[in-house]
Amino acid sequence: MDLRSRLADIDARISDAARSAGRDPATITRIVVTKFHPVELVQDLAALGVTDVGENRQQELSAKRADYAGPALRWHFIGQAQTNKAKAVRRDADAVHSLDRARLADALHGARAEGDESVLDVLIQVNLTDDPGRGGVQPAGVEELAEHVAASCPSLRLRGVMAVAPLDEDPAAAFARLADHAARLRRVVPDADWISAGMTGDFAEAIAAGATHLRIGSAITGPRPLHG
Ligand SMILES: *Cc1c(COP(=O)(O)O)cnc(C)c1O
Repeated sequence: MDLRSRLADIDARISDAARSAGRDPATITRIVVTKFHPVELVQDLAALGVTDVGENRQQELSAKRADYAGPALRWHFIGQAQTNKAKAVRRDADAVHSLDRARLADALHGARAEGDESVLDVLIQVNLTDDPGRGGVQPAGVEELAEHVAASCPSLRLRGVMAVAPLDEDPAAAFARLADHAARLRRVVPDADWISAGMTGDFAEAIAAGATHLRIGSAITGPRPLHG
């Protein structure tokens, strides 16, 4: 299958999963994760109508965005962000899905350029595993981080939650917990209604659990080239 067929196939499967869950497929944003692939692939995707792409490393995001020529895209940053890269992330991402600590929120807020009135969309990444070393805030910390962003970072707009399903658990169970965390977040910030969940292997389960933003890589792009 070529890129066009893989994209059409995944979109059909997204629509099927949405209808099975009693949801309107138009309320779901499909982000194509292009990490490790060259900018030409991003351009090919844009030519096929893709509007949202995801990258997980700041340097790759910045380089690709600088090299990209084509219709406007929304660039989603989905990887771990270091505070010392906040300026570049802020400049090159339209949404940051991986907010996991107050210090990063402060850095992203403080990184806006002089006179910049823009507002950056951010999502709180929640760690659904038992391993505190994995990315994301512990579930118990969601409200505190949300309150911090709402009170202290006016140039950030909190949109919702993001998570990766643990490898050793049924994704449906993990995404059900994420839906609870999303509801807790909405008690702090009522319009933060995005749920970023679902990858190549588990997007149907994510849709059933209410995901609004899917991050799908290899099923659309093909296998990722090695990097180093
Ligand atoms: C790479 C990546 C994806 C996409 O993974 P696939 O299995 O290729 O669909 C989604 N989310 C995050 C955070 C990623 O790093």
